[in-house]
Amino acid sequence: MTSTRAAVLRSAGTPVSIETLALAEPRAGEVRVRILASGVCHSDLHVRDGEWPRPTPIAMGHEGAGVVEAVGPGVRSLAVGRPVALSWLVPCGVCRSCRAGRPWACPDSPSFRHRLSDGATALATAGGEAVLSYCGIGTMAEATVVPEAAAVALPDGVDPAVAALIGCCVSTGVGAVLKTAQVPAGASVAVIGGVGLSCVMGAALAGAARIVAIDRVAAKLDVARSVGATDGLIAGDDRAATIEALRDLTDGGPDVVFEAIGRVGTVELAIESLPVGGTAVLVGMTPFEARASFAVYPLVDGSRRILGSNYGFADPAVDFARYARLHLDGRLPVERLIDRRIGLDGVEAAFDRLRAGVGLRQVVVFD
Ligand SMILES: [Zn+2]
Ligand SMILES: [Zn+2]
Repeated sequence: MTSTRAAVLRSAGTPVSIETLALAEPRAGEVRVRILASGVCHSDLHVRDGEWPRPTPIAMGHEGAGVVEAVGPGVRSLAVGRPVALSWLVPCGVCRSCRAGRPWACPDSPSFRHRLSDGATALATAGGEAVLSYCGIGTMAEATVVPEAAAVALPDGVDPAVAALIGCCVSTGVGAVLKTAQVPAGASVAVIGGVGLSCVMGAALAGAARIVAIDRVAAKLDVARSVGATDGLIAGDDRAATIEALRDLTDGGPDVVFEAIGRVGTVELAIESLPVGGTAVLVGMTPFEARASFAVYPLVDGSRRILGSNYGFADPAVDFARYARLHLDGRLPVERLIDRRIGLDGVEAAFDRLRAGVGLRQVVVFD
């Protein structure tokens, strides 16, 4: 039995509390990971604020990295000391999506139950109350016990904060470009929303000729330029004017547009901006009940496409190390997405900044 401090949500809409919990030893097929960094992602905020109902009490965080500290019986892919990034979607392995080689589309992942594979919880209070782990990994904690498949070995030398982001936002954004949209070299791309900076990086990596970043905040466009955007477009309230300006920058409309906010208005903007043959990729997660509309005739007549992209079509066992190596080679400047490193006590303040749309990625770091 180990003890760990963790950011625990006891009730949606209330602040997380920092609690010291008991952490069970890893059993067969499980590993204990000493967390070194955990990003603060919009998905955590959706849960914290109750927009995505989740069971409680739950240790928050799903974008984490660290080192393997202990392994249970039968673990073959990992040894103690190995740096890992954690995956928030361990595929069930037997459903239709998994059998078809689409683990990112698994609807029956044990990760969605926020428990270990057999339904056990690794965390408990001193009084014996079970505490869930968000997405089965609960990374806003000093340590976590996860299934072997959730801990993915990385090459040595990756900054843990960067490794953490590979676990969610990099895989989601870069994968949306490289895997979902398969953007070809020379294409024109638009990315809506500052959280789409990973999409901008991916588009630069793919060799897109024109990369237009769209945001309401000018400072975020400067960051977008630093990770590969060729143009920045400030979006106002007038959707038609934004579309017009985007068409001017992209010879009639972007080949591929990524919506990375998850708002109905920008989803509709993305679809409306498409030229004939263009593709809108929806990356941003909306509240559950959101519905958007589009004009059907031009979609069909112009062979336009709308694609949903969950987790950037990630196959973590393959993609995490691939993105890490691209980062080490200087081709994915993930460190530029990070603007604050905080302690576990700073999680609520980080949620406040995220809610207000201030700044870039915030990462909880542990000593
Ligand atoms: Zn995330
Ligand atoms: Zn499955």
